[in-house]
Amino acid sequence: MRAALLRGARQVEIVSAPRPEPGPGEIVIRVDAALTCGTDAKVFRRGYHARMLEPPCPFGHEYAGTVAAVGEGVRNVSEGDAVVGGNSAPCGRCDYCREGRAALCDDLTFVNGAFAEWMLLPRRVVAHNLHAIPRGLDPIIAAATEPVACVLKGIEMADVRAGESVLILGSGPIGLIFAAEVAARSAHPVVFARTPIAAETARRMRAHDVVLGESLAACHERVREAAPGRRGYDVVIEAAGAEETTQAAPALCRKGGRVMLFGGCRADVRVTWSPAPLHYDEIAILSSFHHTPRHVAASLDVLAAGRVDIGPLLEAPVGLDGLTDALERMCSRELRGKVPVLPHPTGA
Ligand SMILES: [Zn+2]
Ligand SMILES: [Zn+2]
Repeated sequence: MRAALLRGARQVEIVSAPRPEPGPGEIVIRVDAALTCGTDAKVFRRGYHARMLEPPCPFGHEYAGTVAAVGEGVRNVSEGDAVVGGNSAPCGRCDYCREGRAALCDDLTFVNGAFAEWMLLPRRVVAHNLHAIPRGLDPIIAAATEPVACVLKGIEMADVRAGESVLILGSGPIGLIFAAEVAARSAHPVVFARTPIAAETARRMRAHDVVLGESLAACHERVREAAPGRRGYDVVIEAAGAEETTQAAPALCRKGGRVMLFGGCRADVRVTWSPAPLHYDEIAILSSFHHTPRHVAASLDVLAAGRVDIGPLLEAPVGLDGLTDALERMCSRELRGKVPVLPHPTGA
């Protein structure tokens, strides 16, 4: 089969590899669609990921496929089933798993290798994080289950309620999925965007308002215009993983508001908040990492019901041969959305 191999920074090679065979408890799927993600572009640029992969290694973690072979003992799916698997699975036994906080599992197994014709899913994913795709759902849409699951968990932890104003700092695919889900919960998503194209996509992703500008100061002005006397937003979601937006987030919150640190910053990033206003104004600083099998299942329902429409985020599909070019274009910010990768030539 043909599969992408990440060799290092800006080096992805399409290699020929034996088609995997499932061992006990494992399955092999035919990858019907995979999607590129901001994390893939970051890994492509840096050549590694602290938690998820170490090159040379298979690459790609957002996928939907059809079960092609099942290993001994697998009972929950059969050949021919359309499925989505999580890109991780928790152990189910550690203290965090027992507490229901599976994203913090002491032994989270990660899966990569979606940019390939066929993909082996390990026993733990098959047992704990494999979900049937509702009939009729396009595999390209189903492949977005992972990023939507991350967003559902972030919104749940930020406890976004109907009617609240939610400022989203970050207008990449994740920031805009936040906008769509916040709108679906009858709250008011406001997206900070730096380019007209991001602003336009944000509106198509149901942002009620877009603050288009170079400086975050415009976000302060906008909230005062919208609600005179109001100091800030009910919830501020940092979805860029950047120093500037992380630094600015607490000051954009109203008294009693919540800041959700969703974007993962580089380890060397430092910010300087004074604890005084956080204390006297009771501003909560929250954070959310990754997802859990429960959020992956909920995400598939959200996509199947059309509650979040990722259509505006999708770029033109490519085959495996177009992957490097797509990642380069994402790194140069020429592409803002997600690129569907269809590993099998049409009709094959
Ligand atoms: Zn992703
Ligand atoms: Zn665990």
